[in-house]
Amino acid sequence: MPQAPVLIVGAGPSGLNLALALIRRNVQSRLISEASGPGEQSRAMVVQARTLEFYGQYGFAAEVVEQGVIAETAHVREGGSSGSREVLSISFKEMGAGLSPYPFALAYPQDDHERFLIRKLQEADCEVEWGAKLMSFAQDENGVRADIEYNTGRVEHAESAYICGCDGARSCVRETLQVGFPGGTYEQLFYVADVKIAGGFSRDLYINLGEHILTLMFPVRSSGMQRLIGLVPSELSRRENLGFEDIRAEVEPLLDIKVTEVNWFSTYRVHHRVADKFRVGRAFLVGDAGHIHSPAGGQGMNTGIGDAVNLGWKIAHVLQNRADASLLDTYEPERIGFARSLVSTTDRAFAGLVGEGVAGEFTRKIVAPLVFGVVTRFRLGRHAIFRTISQMRIHYPDSPLSQGTAADVHGGDRLPWTGDHAQDNFEPLRSLDWQAHVYGEVDKDLETACRELHLPLHAFAFTDNTKDAGLKRNALYVVRPDGYIALASFEQSASKLRTFVEQFHLRFRNSPMPA
Ligand SMILES: Cc1cc2nc3c(=O)[nH]c(=O)nc-3n(C[C@H](O)[C@H](O)[C@H](O)COP(=O)(O)OP(=O)(O)OC[C@H]3O[C@@H](n4cnc5c(N)ncnc54)[C@H](O)[C@@H]3O)c2cc1C
Repeated sequence: MPQAPVLIVGAGPSGLNLALALIRRNVQSRLISEASGPGEQSRAMVVQARTLEFYGQYGFAAEVVEQGVIAETAHVREGGSSGSREVLSISFKEMGAGLSPYPFALAYPQDDHERFLIRKLQEADCEVEWGAKLMSFAQDENGVRADIEYNTGRVEHAESAYICGCDGARSCVRETLQVGFPGGTYEQLFYVADVKIAGGFSRDLYINLGEHILTLMFPVRSSGMQRLIGLVPSELSRRENLGFEDIRAEVEPLLDIKVTEVNWFSTYRVHHRVADKFRVGRAFLVGDAGHIHSPAGGQGMNTGIGDAVNLGWKIAHVLQNRADASLLDTYEPERIGFARSLVSTTDRAFAGLVGEGVAGEFTRKIVAPLVFGVVTRFRLGRHAIFRTISQMRIHYPDSPLSQGTAADVHGGDRLPWTGDHAQDNFEPLRSLDWQAHVYGEVDKDLETACRELHLPLHAFAFTDNTKDAGLKRNALYVVRPDGYIALASFEQSASKLRTFVEQFHLRFRNSPMPA
């Protein structure tokens, strides 16, 4: 078997995205999975706008959107198994308008999503090694040695510079590193089912919340089915071999549906945990290996993909001698804070929404509709909700890589989209590399510095749209390969740019090796 500088353990959405981030930067990885083939369960259903923006950088976001279903409306229902009614209908259509090229949430099941990523990797000559299980590994300052057992019984000793644990909640990488995974398990049992309903395929999203009730219904385009997620009624949660028929009478009235065919039914327990560390030496934890939470917010898989995008370009830079190895120190602080806050917010929201007694009822019947009703009436409110759910709000203010400020945009923020297809400031991000942006007139000194540093400089007209996006006329924004701003500066300071570059010993593509 060929040796590669990066061993990726696990071929779920996190591992596949990490391999993609590396191969698109010409870094080979070895991607192993103990599974015998691609996943066949449609687990995570929602692809958030920020993930689509990353896929836009690879040039295949439109293909993904084409294969999913844009969820346009959410119907919120109220009531129990004796009958329910719609109390609120929320249009997603305009929620993110102007904020992202993908102003919506996309329903796209995880199994279809994984197969899509596998195809994209194959196009780049990167194959998953199925039936290959990491048994153990050891590391020192020179590298990593891992024992991989194939389902044929053969054991291989593999060497690599780095090992990335994308191996899910029961991560062998995390356990070998003896990194703690504190948190807990929700007492409720969840079910998941892919079903056909009478009346045909529905493209909308349905939700029913109540005391101990959580029922969600999503469209699954590839199968023409609906995906149901919910809480198993507590009196049934200990029943052996629970099947859809056991809960049919409870579930159908909640969404006012009649299920005509059940394709898949499964139950699972949900945990909320964050690893104490995301990195030990040459080993990294990515995705569910580092953090797991309630599926209620549709955030888990997207957060793992965000981890992979963050780590991928950094490992590529260090291996290609384009940055100091200290660049890798920024992975954990940039990603662990969001994972921790996500676990605590989804925890609180989940507990409040399905909670019991007066407090739960007050949250569902008064607080949630009031907040949603008032907030979504105003553009700013709709945008605030969209930014949070879509993961556009994720930023890295405390990272050593994040420096400076210019008006409303700070080092560590996601580069705002100018909302303008005619002058699309996300288009240059497809280079997957560093770049400088100026919205207005470019100074000669900056032009010279960028040329000498081999840093591509993109000048855009300063328009009402760029202003609305929070960008400042004639300011300098140095943008990282993952579309986050590293350096923001009111003035086009060539010296600030050079200091930043020297701090991390950055080399932009085609720039000469330092002496
Ligand atoms: C029933 C269910 C429903 C869910 N619904 C949602 C949802 O609606 N929204 C949402 O955001 N999230 C949801 N999730 C969570 C979501 O599926 C995960 O967040 C996502 O799969 C994480 O991706 P990952 O790549 O980090 O890990 P995983 O998808 O768990 O992938 C881990 C990979 O590692 C491999 N592996 C494990 N150990 C080894 C080893 N020792 N050697 C080699 N390979 C190994 C596995 O075979 C697998 O390929 C759901 C999860 C479940 C179980």
